[in-house]
Amino acid sequence: MQQILLPILLMLGFSTGCPPVEDIDQYLDNDMDYLVEFYKERHMHPEISLQEENTSMALAEELRKVGFTVTEGVGGYGIVGILKNGEGPQILYRSDMDALPMLEKTGLDYKSKDESAMHSCGHDMHMTTLVGTARAMAAMKDQWSGTLMMIGQPAEEIGAGARAMLKDGLYDRFGVPDYGIGLHCNPSIKAGQIGISEGYTMANTESIDIKIKGVGAHGASPHMSVDPVVLASLIVMEIQTIVSRNIKPIDDAVITVGSIHGGTKHNIISDEVKLQLTVRTYKEEVRQMIHQRLKEITRGIAISAGLSEDMYPEIIIPEEFTPSNYNDPDLTANIKAAASKAIGRDNVIYAEPQMVGEDFACYSSTDDKVPTVLYWLGTVTQEKIDGGDLPGLHSPYYHPTPEETLKAGIKVNTQSMIDLMN
Ligand SMILES: [Zn+2]
Ligand SMILES: [Zn+2]
Repeated sequence: MQQILLPILLMLGFSTGCPPVEDIDQYLDNDMDYLVEFYKERHMHPEISLQEENTSMALAEELRKVGFTVTEGVGGYGIVGILKNGEGPQILYRSDMDALPMLEKTGLDYKSKDESAMHSCGHDMHMTTLVGTARAMAAMKDQWSGTLMMIGQPAEEIGAGARAMLKDGLYDRFGVPDYGIGLHCNPSIKAGQIGISEGYTMANTESIDIKIKGVGAHGASPHMSVDPVVLASLIVMEIQTIVSRNIKPIDDAVITVGSIHGGTKHNIISDEVKLQLTVRTYKEEVRQMIHQRLKEITRGIAISAGLSEDMYPEIIIPEEFTPSNYNDPDLTANIKAAASKAIGRDNVIYAEPQMVGEDFACYSSTDDKVPTVLYWLGTVTQEKIDGGDLPGLHSPYYHPTPEETLKAGIKVNTQSMIDLMN
């Protein structure tokens, strides 16, 4: 049987292990062991941001196996797999690939073999849903028409990978997609469910530094100084009024001073204090307003201390930042409908917007304005939810429950793509 079947499959373009199927359930029945094996392999061999060499090779190989044309080295270790299957829309699907520099403490028998790295953000699961979706779509090629654009993206955890791939000509070289889809593991939604909502769902995030200058002196002679520790204290407190007093109550923003450093010793008044801020917003005009208020507040406090203009605090705003994620309402509606068909209406739940950042947002932030959706994939068992045992993303204890998670992700992706292609 095998001897006859294999050449026929090869002729049809299915290189290995992925025969044509009637529907997604049949595909998952055939292929689940293969996918779980791939998932565990990735989990055991994590690679951190900008070091995803072996990971990207493994992903590229999986895509080639089912007929994709794969280009490697796009924006670093990024890969792009293209499967053309007649006329129709081009759909981008993205998985990130990087792990985090930390020791895994899950105690799983497939835990990381590298004590300095762990897939604690679920990017190993993201890659496996990409492989499963690619294999399922290849096995159901007769049910859709269009082009699949599968992306393995490096360096999500440092917010650099998506931008690097776009800068390397992603859309010029491989075409501008009509739609973009991605998912992220969620550590509190049940495996088998997804969470989704339209509009802004994740924040524009940026790191801002403020350098506050002063005039140093002996700690016993404050009258000889302009104390930057006092100025920094005033600035930190005054910054708290930006969100509460300057931003419209219905707009969202977070300003956190995460670090404050200055001085060396009890009895020395230093001449500099440094603040490190994270600023998170949804709308561009809110972001601009925060920049303006930071300048006005720091400058005003410097003037009140009698400092001259050359001594005003310096605000360092990086040119590059992670934009906010906006789930296109029409595409969200399409994916919700497809997901309800694929996993049942009760398993498609509303997910609250958050102020975390994700560089998936870059794919819709070019002038091409590609409509995209990033949804949450449930990953935990009901027992864990009942027991309140829910370590968050980036926890050394976080791990998805493989089979149920994969099933839901692959079903939702596949149904969404097939519906969009028809
Ligand atoms: Zn992460
Ligand atoms: Zn992540």
